[in-house]
Amino acid sequence: MNIRPVFNLTLSRICKIGFLIATFIIIITGCTQNTKGPVSLKDHEWTQHYEWIRDFGYERIPITNIKSLWPPSELFVPAYTLDMIDNYVESLHNLPWVMPTPSADENMILGKTPGWPEGKELLWPDSTPLQKWEELDPFVPPQNIYGFMITDPDEDGEKIKVILTGGIHPVEYNGSWALHAMIEFLISDNQHARDIRRKVIFFVYPSANPDGRYLAQKRLDLDDLVRPHPEGHPDVVRGNPELYAAGEIDMNRVWRTEGRFAIVDILKDAMIRDTGGRADYSWDFHGGFRIRHDYRAMPDAMGSLYAGALKKREPGIPRRIQSQALDERLWGWLALEDNGMYVKYPFLYEPHALMEKERIFEVGRSLALAFYDVVTGIAPHPDEIELPDPQPDPNYHISTPERARRLSK
Ligand SMILES: [Zn+2]
Repeated sequence: MNIRPVFNLTLSRICKIGFLIATFIIIITGCTQNTKGPVSLKDHEWTQHYEWIRDFGYERIPITNIKSLWPPSELFVPAYTLDMIDNYVESLHNLPWVMPTPSADENMILGKTPGWPEGKELLWPDSTPLQKWEELDPFVPPQNIYGFMITDPDEDGEKIKVILTGGIHPVEYNGSWALHAMIEFLISDNQHARDIRRKVIFFVYPSANPDGRYLAQKRLDLDDLVRPHPEGHPDVVRGNPELYAAGEIDMNRVWRTEGRFAIVDILKDAMIRDTGGRADYSWDFHGGFRIRHDYRAMPDAMGSLYAGALKKREPGIPRRIQSQALDERLWGWLALEDNGMYVKYPFLYEPHALMEKERIFEVGRSLALAFYDVVTGIAPHPDEIELPDPQPDPNYHISTPERARRLSK
């Protein structure tokens, strides 16, 4: 009579232990799968809910070891590598609504970056020392700079022109993921995407600083790239060898230069030639590192119908009106009228580095769908849209373990 309950108890313990071991094995296997070899975007994560995202094979490389940051940087989105950019552009070749820009060759390549010669010394230009810089091999083979268009080629007539750029800051991978999502929606079979393509032409330059990203990929242990920031929070490398050699450290502070940096010249010339020197909108994709999340525009752009559509579709993302001191930046260069290139409404997006992965894709789609609202005349004036209370905080700090755990899935 006494034996049965004891047996049951033992069985229950065995079950529990078995369950724990199984869970452990699943976790270990999952981690191994996530760090080695190509993975499929569809199989692993992010995209199960979104029929408009195509499958994409990529090497999942987690970003690690920013010891001064919390939550642990393993929770950041995986690196969006140069290989991924090459493979992604390649995957677009056969789509009838994707084509090289006028400046690009048939492979959608605008030109090559200068890279950095093997064995040549490269000194860090900043007076602020960068940890372990001298341990980093600065060799960078020349990389592709891409330019392609998305539009319905069978639809003639006046179209809204939109410039999309990403990758200026090498380790802001979440921005590259958001751009990936926006493009995926724009090229999809979705009826709204078709309507957008009929009325809008997108000029896409997805990799604005490949040499910088190449260096960053050698050091995904980002601690090696962190330097003390004057405001007390960590900063990371933002340039590339060509810039460092010339004493500059930030790829987004050199857009008023001419003849100094090959990548800047190639991209500026391409944008001017491809668009005829004028465009209606632009998005530059960055990636708020730990705490920042917002999109920014000048006052005029924030008053546009597109901004009204954005406000309606993404009321939870903080908006920041920025009106001054932008001219050294890419979007500042685009906003000025005396350049040979002028964009009426330039925007910049900084997704949060710890955003839920599905949300990054959802936002990419929203940035595209707001153009649907514009071309169909349903975009509201921004003044008509009430934002929720309390207002979203642009420096929202994700710090709860629950939230972090969700992100790590
Ligand atoms: Zn940035």
